[in-house]
Amino acid sequence: MFTSVRTRLHKSTALALTAVMLGSCAVNPVTGQRELGFISEQRELTIGAEQYSPSQQSQGGQFSVDPELTDYVQGVGQRLAEVSDRPLPYEFVVLNNSVPNAWALPGGKIAVNRGLLSELNNEAELAAVLGHEIVHAAARHGAQAMERGMLLQGALVVGAIAAQGSEYSDYVVGGAMLGAQLVTQRYGRDAERESDAYGIRYMAAAGYDPAAAISLQEVFVRLSEGRDSNWLDGLFASHPPSQERVSNNRALVAQLRAEGISGGELGEERYREATAFLRETQPAYEAFDEAEKLIAEDKLEEADRRLETALSLVPDEARFHGLAADILVYQRRYEAASRRYDDAISRDPDYFDYYLGRGVAFARQGERERARDDLERSVDLLPTALAMSELGELALQSNDRVSAKEYFQAASAASGLVGEQSLAAFMRLDIPDNPTQYVAAQPLVNNAGRLLARVENRSPVAMRDISIEFQAVIAGQLATRTLVVSRLGAGQVGELDSGLNFPQGVLPTANQVNVVVRGAGVE
Ligand SMILES: [Zn+2]
Repeated sequence: MFTSVRTRLHKSTALALTAVMLGSCAVNPVTGQRELGFISEQRELTIGAEQYSPSQQSQGGQFSVDPELTDYVQGVGQRLAEVSDRPLPYEFVVLNNSVPNAWALPGGKIAVNRGLLSELNNEAELAAVLGHEIVHAAARHGAQAMERGMLLQGALVVGAIAAQGSEYSDYVVGGAMLGAQLVTQRYGRDAERESDAYGIRYMAAAGYDPAAAISLQEVFVRLSEGRDSNWLDGLFASHPPSQERVSNNRALVAQLRAEGISGGELGEERYREATAFLRETQPAYEAFDEAEKLIAEDKLEEADRRLETALSLVPDEARFHGLAADILVYQRRYEAASRRYDDAISRDPDYFDYYLGRGVAFARQGERERARDDLERSVDLLPTALAMSELGELALQSNDRVSAKEYFQAASAASGLVGEQSLAAFMRLDIPDNPTQYVAAQPLVNNAGRLLARVENRSPVAMRDISIEFQAVIAGQLATRTLVVSRLGAGQVGELDSGLNFPQGVLPTANQVNVVVRGAGVE
C-alpha cells in the first residue's frame, strides 16, 4: 500500500515535470532558434491587451488632434506586419509626446511618438522604425526580459522611470507598472541587433528600400548629438544610437543586395503629405514643451504666454488647454482651473491627466462628489499615486477608513514625496488597528529586581499613548499592570517602568515575565 502510493506520487511528479518542460521549450518564431520560456503566447497577448492603453496614457496619450496621421501609420505598420514571421494582433498608434521614441509591448502593441515622426524623411524610415518594433514583439524580446527577471520590482521601478525625466510616467502604480516598465526598459544589445537585422528584411519584403534603415540610424545619431545625457536617457532608453549601428545596418543592407534583393520605394512624397500638419504645427509643440519647462522652474506667467502662442497655432490641441488648467491649479485658482479642464476634456475625453487635475481642483473647492468621480475616472485610465492619495484624503473626509487605507497603501508604492506621504498616511491609519506591527516591546529586569519594558517605535511617524501590559509571576502569583508611553518619536526607543518588583536575588525565568502591546495612537 505504502509503496503503491509512493509510486503514484512519483509518477504524477514526473508527469508535471514533463508538462513544464514541454511548455518551456519552443522555437522562436523570428530567429528559428530553440529557446526556453515560460511566458506563453496567451500570456503575451494578455499583457499586450491589458497594458496597451495605460502605457499610452503614461507616455502622453494619443495624438488625437490629427487622426489621419494615426491612420497612415497604421497602414504602414500593417504592410510590415503582413510579412512578419509571427501573426499577432498588431496595432499602431501615434502618441502626443515630443521625445523621438517608439516602443512595442508583447503581443504586437506598438506606439510611435509624434516627436519621432517629425524627424523622419520618408515612409521607408518610418517602416524601418516599425519593422524594428515588430521584431521586438514577434521575437518575444519583452517576454524574454520578463523571463530573465530583468524588470525591476515595485517602488524601485517607479524611481527608475521617474528618473528618466518623463513627467507622464511618474508615479504610475498598481497593475499599470508592468507596462510602464516594458516601454522604458533596455532590451540589450543582442535584442537590438536582432531587431535591426530582421526589421530590415521585413522592410525589403514589404517593398521598401532597406537603405532607409541606414539613414534612420543617421537621424538618430544626429538627434543625440549636443543633447544632455538626461534627455538621451529618456529618449533612447531602449535604442541607443551609435555610429556602430549605422555601419551594422550598412552591412546588413549590403548583404540583402548581395542576396539579390534590390529596389524598393522610399515613399517620400506620401510621407510629406501625411506629416504636413505635424510639420506645420511644430512651433506650437515647441512652445508647449517650453511652457512645461517653465512650469518646472515655477515661471507660471511666462509659461502661460508660451501656451497662448501654442493655442493660437493649434486651438484644438487638448493638451494645451490641459496645461493651461494645470497652471491655474498651481496658482490656486481652482474654479477657473476646473472650467479650463472642461475645455481639454471636450476636445479629448480619453486622457487621464485632465480628470486628475479637475478632480484635484474640485477637491480643493470642497466638491467631494465631483472630485471622487473625476479621480476614479483618471485611475481607470491610468492609476497614479497622486490620484490614489487624493482619493485616500476624500475617503478619510467621509470617515471611510477602510478605503482610505487601501488608497494610501496603493499610492505608497511610488517613490518620491507623494509615495512617502502616502506611506505615512497609511501608517497613521494602520498603527491604531495593528499596533504590534509597529511597536516592539521586550521585558527587562534590572539589578534591583524591577520589571521594565524596552519599547521601540519602528514606524516612520511619531506615536502617542502606546499602551503596554506587563505580566509577571511573582512569588507564585500572576500580577498584571497596564501603563502608557505618552510619546515616542519615529524610530525612538524608550523604557517603561512597571513598578513591579521581584524579590532580591530571585531572577525570574523567561516564562514568568511578559510584555504585550495593547494599543498605540499617532500624533
Ligand atoms: Zn529596439
